[in-house]
Amino acid sequence: MAGSKSKDDPLYAVLIDLVRVENQSTSTGKVGLSSEYIFPDEPNECPACQGKKFRSYEILGAHDDPIVWECVNCDMRYPRFDLIVMEELLDKVKGLWTNPDDWGFSPKEEFN
Ligand SMILES: [Zn+2]
Repeated sequence: MAGSKSKDDPLYAVLIDLVRVENQSTSTGKVGLSSEYIFPDEPNECPACQGKKFRSYEILGAHDDPIVWECVNCDMRYPRFDLIVMEELLDKVKGLWTNPDDWGFSPKEEFN
């Protein structure tokens, strides 16, 4: 799969998979997003390294399309929306790491 990803092939992730900065108070901060660059569509070129390839992350429960772009070359991440909007979207799925039961599945029961 790596190396042959097409542009229209988003990766599906839950929010906790994308957390890279634990000691941030906001969800966007935890995911490592900044408001410096916002890309409504997948970027053509990474502003940081001029890389041309991106991973696009669709976050389950947050939005039906990818909302985070990640440069394959330098791992910089870029938001699809304004950070205020991003924060709202990520807030919807925040419970996924604090209390999975809120999400309607309880893995424990299945193993009893
Ligand atoms: Zn880059």
